[in-house]
Amino acid sequence: SMVSKLNIEENAEKETGDDKPDIPDAADSSLIAKIFRKGLTNDKCSLEVQRKDPNNPLYSVKTFEALKLHPDLLRGVYAMGFNVPSKIQETTLPILLANPPTNLIAQSQSGTGKTAAFVLAMLSRVDTSKNFVQALCLSPTYELAIQTGEVAAKMSQYRKDIQLRFAVRGEEAPKDTKLTEHIVIGTPGKVLDWGVKFKVFDMKKITVFVLDEADLMIATQGHQDQCHRIHKQLSNKCQMMFFSATYGQEVMEFAELIVPNPTILRLKREQESLENIKQYYVRCANHEAKYAAITNIYGGISIGQAIIFCHTRKTCSWLSAKMSQDGHSVAILSGDLNVEQRIAVLDRFRAGLEKVLITTNVLSRGIDVEQVTIVVNFDMPKDGENKADCDTYLHRIGRTGRFGKSGIAVNLIDSEESMTICKDIERHFNKPILKIDTDNPEEIE
Ligand code: ADP
Repeated sequence: SMVSKLNIEENAEKETGDDKPDIPDAADSSLIAKIFRKGLTNDKCSLEVQRKDPNNPLYSVKTFEALKLHPDLLRGVYAMGFNVPSKIQETTLPILLANPPTNLIAQSQSGTGKTAAFVLAMLSRVDTSKNFVQALCLSPTYELAIQTGEVAAKMSQYRKDIQLRFAVRGEEAPKDTKLTEHIVIGTPGKVLDWGVKFKVFDMKKITVFVLDEADLMIATQGHQDQCHRIHKQLSNKCQMMFFSATYGQEVMEFAELIVPNPTILRLKREQESLENIKQYYVRCANHEAKYAAITNIYGGISIGQAIIFCHTRKTCSWLSAKMSQDGHSVAILSGDLNVEQRIAVLDRFRAGLEKVLITTNVLSRGIDVEQVTIVVNFDMPKDGENKADCDTYLHRIGRTGRFGKSGIAVNLIDSEESMTICKDIERHFNKPILKIDTDNPEEIE
């Protein structure tokens, strides 16, 4: 697959050092979540319409047939195993396909079907009797552009008349001729080169403009400015679609500058909670004692799978070496692995090949390993000022109602600072974190 083109040297540059906290890279996390996921997320969500175009009534569809797609696109959709539209697709697809075209800003977490929605819109809107670029999609990175292109290729597998072109590093534009493909998917720098500098396609003829993963886009230096420069060239008749996985002030301000008169939709996710989670803490003198606590707990209760969070890679590798020596099969996931390696680790863990996953903060949000029953904080999550990081705690331990399963969280405490963090977390969520004595692990149940 194209993903194997990932540049390992680039990853090496991001290294933060073995004994510093591992900081996850947002674009990598998004890519990993995309590749690792095998289908839609299960989270319960509710759709919120924040603004609508008074000229275009909103309605939703419960089937793909209701969209009156080209029969060969419908075939493509079904060939991908999509039976019914996802929650966000129910409402976005009718908007995206309606005439006259409506501009859209949509926010929903990763895995809810945004990509499939705008890809279907691009494929539906191009006129293959005309051989020039009509749809343009901007992605924040090479890898994410390739992912989107692969979705487009699959969905249009029965529409061989639709041609696709990547505008990403490594691709060359023809000199002094115009592109004949209908859809261009690319990164801002390359698109700016092709569309504005070398004019290998006519920006004024673009009828569908997609800005994907806008939150990652603005997180990359210079991308926001490049997007504006591309956007300025577009005709005012061009339909604008803007997608983001997160909803922050900065990204919404960016959206408003790019998309005139939009309908704004937001899929709100049910909050993660600690409702079904039993939380404990164990006092330990040092790393060795923490290790002993883990093995006691692990021996004392019947566990499906466990995830252990450490603050640094150094602790991760120390712990995994120790557990391996004692005959446990452990997987390790940290920031020194490239994207492919991380996906391989997660795949093996999900398949149950390893029972324990030891990781730093790089475990992507939005990745659910449903069978995990116990989460261990080998180190308490803390922010840059050594204060309790309650958000990270909730992401590690919390669940949304989707699985309804109960879980166990164990916090290993080896200093007064950690104890304070633990108490602050307890107070913050107003849920008891009980003390346990690992000599009596039966207490955990
Ligand atoms: P997002 O762009 O919001 O991250 P995607 O469009 O990539 O979401 O969809 C997430 C996953 O769900 C992908 O594996 C995709 O193939 C799948 N998917 C998308 N739409 C549907 C659908 N209507 N039915 C089933 N699976 C879907």
